[in-house]
Amino acid sequence: MGRCKNNAVKEPKAHSLEQAVDVLVEKFPLHLNPEQTLLARSLQMEAAKVWNAACNIHRTIYGRYGYWLSEGSIKALLKGKYGLHSQSVQAVVETYFECCERTRELHLQGHTEWKYPYRRKRFFTVTWKKAAITHKHILHAISANAVRWCLGRSVKTAYIGNPEEVRERDCGRHHNQRMGQWALGKLRDLLAYKLKRHGIELIPVDERGTSGTCPVCGEYTRQTGRVYRCGNASCGFTGIHRDVLGASGILDKAQHGSFTRGRKLPGKVEYLRPQVLAPKRAA
Ligand SMILES: [Zn+2]
Repeated sequence: MGRCKNNAVKEPKAHSLEQAVDVLVEKFPLHLNPEQTLLARSLQMEAAKVWNAACNIHRTIYGRYGYWLSEGSIKALLKGKYGLHSQSVQAVVETYFECCERTRELHLQGHTEWKYPYRRKRFFTVTWKKAAITHKHILHAISANAVRWCLGRSVKTAYIGNPEEVRERDCGRHHNQRMGQWALGKLRDLLAYKLKRHGIELIPVDERGTSGTCPVCGEYTRQTGRVYRCGNASCGFTGIHRDVLGASGILDKAQHGSFTRGRKLPGKVEYLRPQVLAPKRAA
């Protein structure tokens, strides 16, 4: 990753600056299919955008105000703005600052031919931290579970709630929401891709009103608790988890175009929880 590391290896003079630390590097060949290669390239391009932004902001602020922004403030500025895991974004910024620091040291040693990073990059290596790998693993586990469930029931068409409009309108600029939206999009893409391999279609359905519309009387009540409660005094239906009702609402909307009264609710609810692989602790 980065020119600094490679430069340090290529430049013999730089060895004298190195501390005596052994680093073991292992390379694994990745046999990617064309689709995965495309994804890997697009992630590298996203990482390059982070690098370019860090470099740009750092230089612009110095140019205008004579002030070098800290690593922390650049991380804060770039947080949640890219389609990469937050820790992968941080890793790019960390590499950028390592590069600056290294150049500064070299300048102090008199090697002024070394330049501070300035060039725009098209691709940059993505660093996967442990949390990001776990996250990706969970998305795969959830989608695989759902596909297995569908196959076991000879499902031909699956519907998924599409909350994008709701989120954009209601939530605005919060980082967690944006990350959630990103993860949800990734999950939906994975699910669509895996289902398609088995000839199952995944159709997005506008999620609005699905968890608030009464399955009995069809009236909408804004929900605050986990258990659904109909606000219509002459109905008062309750006793089902809001998310289960939401799922049944998505199916209802998909099949009938709008909500129906006296809707049939699922008799049995199954939770498909992903198994997360964690290293075993030493006894
Ligand atoms: Zn009702």
